[in-house]
Amino acid sequence: MSARDAIFDILFEPVKIGPVTARNRFYQVPHCNGMGDQHPRGMAAMRGVKAEGGWAVVSTEEVSIDHHTDFSPGIEGKLWDAGDIPYHARMVDAVHAHGSLAAIELCQQGIACKNMDSREVPLAPSAQPLIVPSTLQARAMDLSDIRAVRASHRQSALLAKRAGYDIVYVYAGHDLSIAQHFLLSRYNKRSDEYGGSLENRARLLRELIEDTKDAVGDTCAVAVRFAVDELRGADGMEADGEAPEIIAMLAELPDLWDVNISDWDNDSQTARFAEEGYQEGFISFVKTLTTKPVVGVGRYTSPDHMASLIAKGTLDFIGAARPSIADPFLPKKIEEGRLEDIRECIGCNICVSGDMTYSRIRCTQNPTMGEEWRKGWHPERIAKSVSQDSVLIVGGGPAGLECARALGQRGYAVTLAEAGDALGGRILNESRLPGMASYQRVVEHRLAAFNKLPNVETYLASDLSAEQVIAFEARHIVLATGAAWRRDGVGCSRRTALPIAASVPAIFTPDDIFAGKIPGDGPVLVYDDERYIMAGLIAEKLARDGHAVTLMTPETMVSPWSENTLEQHAIQRRILEAGVTIMTARRLVALENGARHACIYTGQEAEIEAAAVVLVTSRLPNDSLWLDLQARAENALAPWQSLTRIGDALAPATVAHAIYAGHRYAREFDTQACEGAPYMRERVTV
Ligand code: ADP
Ligand code: SF4
Repeated sequence: MSARDAIFDILFEPVKIGPVTARNRFYQVPHCNGMGDQHPRGMAAMRGVKAEGGWAVVSTEEVSIDHHTDFSPGIEGKLWDAGDIPYHARMVDAVHAHGSLAAIELCQQGIACKNMDSREVPLAPSAQPLIVPSTLQARAMDLSDIRAVRASHRQSALLAKRAGYDIVYVYAGHDLSIAQHFLLSRYNKRSDEYGGSLENRARLLRELIEDTKDAVGDTCAVAVRFAVDELRGADGMEADGEAPEIIAMLAELPDLWDVNISDWDNDSQTARFAEEGYQEGFISFVKTLTTKPVVGVGRYTSPDHMASLIAKGTLDFIGAARPSIADPFLPKKIEEGRLEDIRECIGCNICVSGDMTYSRIRCTQNPTMGEEWRKGWHPERIAKSVSQDSVLIVGGGPAGLECARALGQRGYAVTLAEAGDALGGRILNESRLPGMASYQRVVEHRLAAFNKLPNVETYLASDLSAEQVIAFEARHIVLATGAAWRRDGVGCSRRTALPIAASVPAIFTPDDIFAGKIPGDGPVLVYDDERYIMAGLIAEKLARDGHAVTLMTPETMVSPWSENTLEQHAIQRRILEAGVTIMTARRLVALENGARHACIYTGQEAEIEAAAVVLVTSRLPNDSLWLDLQARAENALAPWQSLTRIGDALAPATVAHAIYAGHRYAREFDTQACEGAPYMRERVTV
């Protein structure tokens, strides 16, 4: 079966972790998924697919140990009492069914937990405000509180063992764990045996490891997830500071070290801000201090890179959250020598946005993520065609590409017509913006698939009119014609056109910038009323090209939606560093020999000089072909059986939405329309 290169054999060696053995070196580290205990069937099926795809260890998300740390309103896991065991057992069974180990990340979130639901007072090493927005403060734990946390953690570990888990975590990372809060002197101001010296601050972590070993260590491995650096200098944990001392102190106590940088923003940086392997410089010391296996992450998608990390002795396991989300079958594809089939993570963090918005996980590259149970979507398998019908897809952006790929995988005859000289749609433009090159992977993956699908024909330079579409005589027509940026200033905060007088300042949209129309001399105003990343990208590009740029937004920060992708701080920092002037809480009022703007609170107006304004406000679907064809259908001149719009052509959104829309069309094509919601629901049983 195996046609893989021998250099990858090292990735498929079994590794012992305390009393258990992982069948290879692919390790899905704990990651949130927005399903947790609220959609347990969905969560379990998603984890099971990872095991099927070859991940030797598949971990849960954070799992709360009791009501003193309820994680609400986040959607995570709970293991408070035996009543929680059945849903955990479901996940464990799904993972074991494919020969993988199931790991659980037990957690007491300390000052990162609002306890919105349980209304318990959050716990901390010392009295202080929470580190998440809240009106609450945490109380200082006394010795009986510490004993209670230890007892609760031990109890959850015992329950985890009963549920069938193979690996039980003690968590000290992401600024989300009480053991980490005790370690950090900025939070821990105690003067008893749990404060002061490093040995004292590490006491709770040591005790939790010892308790867990004692409770379940006979059959379960005990892992520690530890943040070696926080990227905040001497104010935090540092890889060349206390971190090596802690690892040296506890080196042989756990069965595995899972090491990374903290907080989540730093650990899961987007591709715009960090390359594959960006954590190596921080964690590479760990293996010099312990004989226990070490797992690390860094958005690894390159098999060569992975093999070299093991060969060099930097890591024992290739840890992954996002690469396992984008391609649950990544290990299997390497094992079988099918490297060209790997669906590489693009590092966009749309997956994170699910958790941040309390909704199920989604992924730009993998439209089946989160849909494994409720829609029965498998990332590698799809129902075969049930007819000889052919489909014409107009538009080769993400929606059209994924629609063609998935219909082609089903076996349908597909024609994909694209007006431009290359396939990719918006990706062709957006991937040329600073730091966005990884988005090309969206296109590359689909083009690689087309190489194996002779039933998918693609035509470039084919800007189809309604007559040409009709002449094609396809029974099914899909319009994936995309969208165009508006030029009238209508956006999230403004629903009527912006008054624009004469030709000064010159008006641009992102599409103009992509087309190479560049503002001339004089100050440029980039106006963001879209809220996601585009305005920041355009501002950064223009500033780097030498323009004097101001970014204005009615919001109180730059790119506010990018808080959901953990990028907001990094974006604002980067454009400030690029020399962009930022004006927040200002809305454009009119463009007339300058840009008139007003405070969003007081309405007080002012004017700013601008030779050019780039309006980044919203997009309108490219619907002229749709309207033309619709008109013919109204006049009974429609020879086709179905005409459907997908992606931005229906309603502009993220690339993830477009991929999902294309995939959904292909899944539902030629199938019975279902009654009610097009997916199964998990209901609360009363
Ligand atoms: P989405 O994200 O929904 O896939 P994109 O804007 O990325 O949308 O892609 C739409 C693609 O459709 C673009 O590449 C565009 O050139 C193409 N297109 C638009 N109208 C036509 C048409 N009439 N015929 C062929 N291709 C078209
Ligand atoms: Fe990677 Fe983006 Fe998918 Fe997350 S959503 S796994 S970052 S491709």
